[in-house]
Amino acid sequence: MDESKGDVHLFGPPLVAQEEPAASIDPQLAPGSNGGPQVDEMVEEILRLKKEQNAVILAHNYQIPAIQDLADFVGDSLGLSRQAEETDAETIVFCGVHFMAETAKILCPEKRVLIPDPSAGCSLADSIDVESVRAWKAAHPGALLVVYVNCSAEVKAEADYCCTSANALKLIEAIPEDQQVLFAPDMFLGEYLREKTGRDIKTWLGECHVHAAIGPRDVQRMWSERPEADLLVHPECGCVSSVMWHAAIGDLPEDRTQILSTQGMLNVAAESESEEFLVATETGILHQMRKLNHGKRFFAVKEDAECSYMKMITVDKLLRTMREGVYEVVLAPEILEGARLSIERMVAIA
Ligand code: SF4
Repeated sequence: MDESKGDVHLFGPPLVAQEEPAASIDPQLAPGSNGGPQVDEMVEEILRLKKEQNAVILAHNYQIPAIQDLADFVGDSLGLSRQAEETDAETIVFCGVHFMAETAKILCPEKRVLIPDPSAGCSLADSIDVESVRAWKAAHPGALLVVYVNCSAEVKAEADYCCTSANALKLIEAIPEDQQVLFAPDMFLGEYLREKTGRDIKTWLGECHVHAAIGPRDVQRMWSERPEADLLVHPECGCVSSVMWHAAIGDLPEDRTQILSTQGMLNVAAESESEEFLVATETGILHQMRKLNHGKRFFAVKEDAECSYMKMITVDKLLRTMREGVYEVVLAPEILEGARLSIERMVAIA
């Protein structure tokens, strides 16, 4: 790894303890979602209030199945940002983690943006703060700062470009070859981009605790059990460099090993003729994969790769949001203004 200015934090449990699942919980529902007929009633009320308030519900691919199933749109960070930008709804209810709701607010400052639990954070976003990023920039005058979308609005306001895992490669390739780039906060994605492009990229030492824990041994174990499967790996994973290397030397078949965003994984799952897929990312994505691809089989490379922050958004919290208008995302005007350009560039890159 190149270098880092600042600490790399080790991250503990979410800020708010999760509720225990109800005894009758559907195994498809993650902790805190409350199973059974009660959920049906809550969903009915959520949908009624949504219509009454001209609201749209956006949900990330890592949300619990019950939230994914009632949302108007389910997608990755880039897809949801585009939905936020395009909607004519007056209120955006964002079922995801906090930086995602902030991104929607930056793109739609005139709209009311709500998040059902504002303490739904992100270990990766927390690995960098605005003071550290300013110091890093100051130490590299002339470098361009590219930030992954998983960071705070304050950090985005310091950046030249923002990207998601879906368009990071295209963005780096669009930058002149001799331009030095500072990439933050995800070290695995940063290193992947440097390997792929050969560019002068200095990488911040941040990581997502969920993806970093998906290691080469998990991949090897699953691959040995299902050698016919396609392997889909998210670039934030701790196994990404090893997967690239093993694919390059022929240990893993290059044509069936792909490093992709969650939307990219969904696209491949739909288009591939394979019947089995090994999926290295947060396990929430399996719900969409199975729902959209009957007859194909999807297996988590690491079954306990669950983001407890993502799972903090539950049906009962969403109902409260719709009833009480909590919690509204509010950003200072200078942060809104400062972060907008980098976010708009992110959304513009297909
Ligand atoms: S899975 Fe990782 S990167 Fe995504 S929200 Fe959770 S902690 Fe952040």
